[in-house]
Amino acid sequence: MQCPKCNSENTQRLEVVFHGGTQEINTTGTTVGGAHGGAFGIGGAVTKTKGQSQSILAQKSAPPSKKSFKAAVILFVIGILMLGGQGATAFLGFLLIAAGAYLGYKNFQFNSKEWPSLYQQWLDSWLCHKCGTTYHHAV
Ligand SMILES: [Zn+2]
Repeated sequence: MQCPKCNSENTQRLEVVFHGGTQEINTTGTTVGGAHGGAFGIGGAVTKTKGQSQSILAQKSAPPSKKSFKAAVILFVIGILMLGGQGATAFLGFLLIAAGAYLGYKNFQFNSKEWPSLYQQWLDSWLCHKCGTTYHHAV
C-alpha cells in the first residue's frame, strides 16, 4: 500500500501499529511485576513510564474510544443522595439525576450509533512511517 503523499511503501494499518506498540507495554509490565514481586506500586510506575516512551506511535494510532458512563453514574449517585435532603438540596439532587440520565443517554447514543463508524474508519486507516501521514483506504 503506497502512501498517497510521498509514495513510500513503508506504510502500516493503524490497527497493526497500535497492537505492535501495545504488546511492548504488556511485555514490560509482566517482566517488571514478576521481578519486583511485592513492590507493586513501584512496578506500576515503572511500567507506565516505560510504556509511554515505547508507545508514542501506539498512542497516536489508538482506536476511537467508547464514551465512559462513569461521570453519568457519579452524577446520578450524588443526585440520589441529595434527594434525601430538603428544599434546594433535593431540587439540586433532582437536577443532577436529570443531568446524569441525559449524559448517560447521550453517551449510549454515541457508543451505539457514532462509535461503530468511527471504529470502522480507524480499521481502514493507514500510517506512513516515512512522512507520518495517516490516510483512509478500505482493505
Ligand atoms: Zn508518506
